[in-house]
Amino acid sequence: MLLVKTIKELQNLLNDSRKFGTIGFVPTMGALHKGHLSLIKQAVLGNETVVVSIFVNPTQFNNSTDLEEYPRTLESDLELLETTGCQIVFAPNTKEVYPEPDIRKFNFGKLETVMEGKHRPGHFNGVAQVVSKLFDIVKPDRAYFGLKDFQQLTIIKEMVLQLKITVEIVACPIIREKSGLAMSSRNELLTDEQRKNASLLHKTLLTAKEQKGQKTVSETITRVIEMINRNPFLNVEYFEIVDDEQLQPVKNWNEKSSKIGCVAAFCGDVRLIDNIYFN
Ligand code: AMP
Repeated sequence: MLLVKTIKELQNLLNDSRKFGTIGFVPTMGALHKGHLSLIKQAVLGNETVVVSIFVNPTQFNNSTDLEEYPRTLESDLELLETTGCQIVFAPNTKEVYPEPDIRKFNFGKLETVMEGKHRPGHFNGVAQVVSKLFDIVKPDRAYFGLKDFQQLTIIKEMVLQLKITVEIVACPIIREKSGLAMSSRNELLTDEQRKNASLLHKTLLTAKEQKGQKTVSETITRVIEMINRNPFLNVEYFEIVDDEQLQPVKNWNEKSSKIGCVAAFCGDVRLIDNIYFN
C-alpha cells in the first residue's frame, strides 16, 4: 500500500494501474471505522486497483467548530487500511486540492432543499466541489458511497449526470455498532453514556417501520420525534419520510415510490444522522 500526498504522484501511479484493469475509488474524511472499511472491501472485490482518499474537506463544513473538532487519525487509519487490500491512499493537504478557492455553485434543485441541504446550507455544494475534483484527479471507473449519507449519495448521482462524468456510483449498506448505532467518525466524540443513548435513533426507526401499518405517515413522523426527544441526551433536528429518488416528503404509505425515513439529531454537541427504508 502506498501513501501519496500530491496529485502528480497519484496520477503517475494511476497511469500504470489503469493498464491492468479498473480503478475503484472510496472518498473519505478519515477517522476510519468498519463502515468505511466495508466500502473499501467492496471496492477491492470489484476492481484491480483501489484508491482511498483521506481529506477533511473544509468547504463542506458550515460550522467552523465542527471542522476543527472533526477527528483526524491518519496513523491509525493507515494501519486499518493495510488490512483491506487497497493499493493507494491519497491524503492531500488543503492547498493541493484547492490551489485556488473553488467558487463553483452547483444547483441540485429540490434535492438540496430538504433535510441535510435545508439544515446545513452550502454543505452539498462543498461535497460536490470536493467529489468532482477528486473524480477529476482519480478518474475512477467506480466510486463507492455509503447509504448512511443517503441524501449525499443522491446528490452525487445527480452531480455525475450534470457534469457527464463517466463513473459508476456504487451504493453500500449502512454498517452499525452492536447497539444499532450507525457507525460514524463522529461517534468518537460521544461519551460512553451518550453513545449508549444514541442507539435509540436506530431503535426508534425500526419500531416506526414495524408499526407502519397502524399509523399514518404524519403520525409516524410525530411519534418518532417524540420518542427520540423524550431521551434527555437526544434532540431531533429533523425527521422526514421522503421518496428515495426526488427526496420529497411522502404523504401516504400507498404512494408508489420507495420510502425512506431520514433523521438528524444532536447528542450533546454531536450531530448524528441515520435512515431506514420503510418498504
Ligand atoms: P465520511 O468519511 O464520513 O465522509 O464517509 C466516507 C464514506 O463512508 C461516505 O460514502 C459515507 O456514506 C460512508 N460511510 C460512513 N459511515 C458509514 C456506515 N456506518 N456504513 C456505511 N457507509 C458509511
